[in-house]
Amino acid sequence: MEISRHRTSRGTVVWSRCSCGRLRMAYSPTSLTSPDERPLVAGGRTPGCPDCP
Ligand SMILES: [Zn+2]
Repeated sequence: MEISRHRTSRGTVVWSRCSCGRLRMAYSPTSLTSPDERPLVAGGRTPGCPDCP
């Protein structure tokens, strides 16, 4: 479930709530050409949750 979405100068940050209740932040850079700009997900995962990355 998506909670909020923020556009920044470098990409998009999406906060979402997993089905297990964990809060997760996902960052998607606008440009994928730079090796420093990789999509990332922060927040860890819950053991046993099929929806956690
Ligand atoms: Zn989960």
